[in-house]
Amino acid sequence: MEYLPLFHKLDGRPVLVVGAGPVAARKIRLLLAANAQVTVVAPELGDEVAQAKSAGYLTVVLRKYQSSDLDGRVLVVVATNFPEINRQVADEATARHIAVNAVDAKELCTVIFPSIVDRSPVQIAISTAGTAPVLARLLRTQLEALFPARLGQLATLANGFRAAVAERIAEPLRKKFWEQVFSGRVASLSYQGNLEEAHTGLAAELDNFVETQTDAPQGEVYLVGGGPGDPDLLTFKAIRLMQQADIVLYDRLVSPQVLDKVRRDAELVYVGKRAGDHAVSQENINLKLVEYAQQGMRVLRLKGGDPFIFGRGGEEIAMLAEHNIPFQVVPGITAASGCASYAGIPLTHRDHAQSVRFIAGHLMSGELDLDWQELAKPHQTLVFYMGLSGMETICSQLMAHGAPANRPAAIIEKGTQPDQRNFIADLENLPAKVRAANAGAPTLLIVGDVVQLHHQLNWYQPQMSEISDG
Ligand code: SAH
Repeated sequence: MEYLPLFHKLDGRPVLVVGAGPVAARKIRLLLAANAQVTVVAPELGDEVAQAKSAGYLTVVLRKYQSSDLDGRVLVVVATNFPEINRQVADEATARHIAVNAVDAKELCTVIFPSIVDRSPVQIAISTAGTAPVLARLLRTQLEALFPARLGQLATLANGFRAAVAERIAEPLRKKFWEQVFSGRVASLSYQGNLEEAHTGLAAELDNFVETQTDAPQGEVYLVGGGPGDPDLLTFKAIRLMQQADIVLYDRLVSPQVLDKVRRDAELVYVGKRAGDHAVSQENINLKLVEYAQQGMRVLRLKGGDPFIFGRGGEEIAMLAEHNIPFQVVPGITAASGCASYAGIPLTHRDHAQSVRFIAGHLMSGELDLDWQELAKPHQTLVFYMGLSGMETICSQLMAHGAPANRPAAIIEKGTQPDQRNFIADLENLPAKVRAANAGAPTLLIVGDVVQLHHQLNWYQPQMSEISDG
């Protein structure tokens, strides 16, 4: 995070604006909306600032900037047409630890203005850290369309009930109550502008909730597939549940970018799992899920890929079912789909593969007990999960059972992630190529004629890798 988003209370506080043209005027409008006490320093005034001055909204000092103008300010905005003045003001303010924004000069700023969706008291601030202001404005337009115009009124209404609710309902039930309010009838009434009825409705819901829900809350478990890494591949449902969970148990395959989508104040519990490192045993995970849910929490069990594909998701929810704990399962994009798409390898193809198999490729005490005869046959695609350590065995067994040495084969490392690497070769040459480049987990092994389509269909440009295909 290059910038920490904070909301600055400017009510009555002294802010200096250097410059009085149209650009300064836009910032002044925002500062006045936040009730700042604005002083403008400029040798002459543009129209809008002149008008604001005659309306008595701000103090104007008609001359060039001088250092003492900074005295006592909590924030300085500089927007003149003279880069050297902008720099001087910014440097002096920064030296005095006063927050400074220099319009259109990111390198001079210690604070930047976001694009704002204003539903006061609800505010949504969007920033691209100064990298793409136009993008921020586009996002803002989309968000404007998304949020009801009267969202702020709902927040104000809720605020009026906060003390009463806090007194009558304890956490974690309180959170549940508010969620019910914000997603139910009271919300619709507020959005329609029917505030009186919304008020009565909220009072009634509060009474009702207190009467009916005094028992221990019922926890719930969401078994959610987090996909192979790219957070854009999450489903809407996954995002929604990630946003309402109280606690999250995640394992190593969940990418940091995906984890980042979890509600900020949810507790995060790492439960590990990689070959050889079982941070928390499977049985323990199953037990923890039950325990947290029994405490009334909304528990998110977040897994890489799809929870029902080599994810032991079935075992986890079997335990929940035994204990009568409600759960939902949300499918995710499994590594096979993610890696194949992001490597331009269709898993099936009219001419090359009429079926696809997902196979667990990890060695059990050095061995892999698979039907090699069957797997060596043409016109199918094989996808080996957990197949890196067994790669040599897999390739040589396939060849030993009749697959040609030049059958295309690929290893996709960190599929869909910014540092994805593709190793494209054939059964004979793949292992050496992969070992030479030191590929590491997670990797997926794909075998079959479809692999050669990569050369024609590859589209994904990872950001950070030396591309090692060929
Ligand atoms: N439930 C997961 C699979 C878990 S098994 C899913 O549906 O994807 C773990 C194996 O998945 C890894 O050993 C690796 O073979 C594969 N895998 C998971 N994410 C991957 C990724 N981003 N890139 C390549 N392989 C991945």
